Amino acid sequence: MRNMQSSDSLSSTLARAEKLCARHGWKLTPVRRRVLELLLAADGPVKAYDLLEGLKPGPGAAKPPTVYRALDFLMQAGLAHKVEALNAYIGCVHAAETGGVELYICANCGSVEERHGAPAPAKAPAGWAIDRSVVEHYGRCSACARLSA
Ligand SMILES: [Zn+2]
Ligand SMILES: [Zn+2]
Repeated sequence: MRNMQSSDSLSSTLARAEKLCARHGWKLTPVRRRVLELLLAADGPVKAYDLLEGLKPGPGAAKPPTVYRALDFLMQAGLAHKVEALNAYIGCVHAAETGGVELYICANCGSVEERHGAPAPAKAPAGWAIDRSVVEHYGRCSACARLSA
């Protein structure tokens, strides 16, 4: 599972996120940082509701709008992705690599892997302006595919 990070790689991903925000002049507030930390520490996609629970003992017992604003920030910064099909979020272990992202969602264990790159450009109908594209693949992760082989 992609998100099973050791505390070492968790802190180095957070450090990269901090540098990225500093470089762009973005404010990684304590709540935003904590949400990112919760996403990265989770072993799979996390729902906003669970983030809310996770924030409880922390800075500013967060309200739903606070969590959604933090998630919006993280997604715009490229530090998190939304898994539309699950209505849940993952922290980006690549800390804002540019390019599109494709998500691979395991129907068996619920793990999500991501791959950055440049997906084939969508062939939009004439006159269409695309703001955002979501590419999600469903199947079994390598571990689950091995088990059922
Ligand atoms: Zn990513
Ligand atoms: Zn799996």
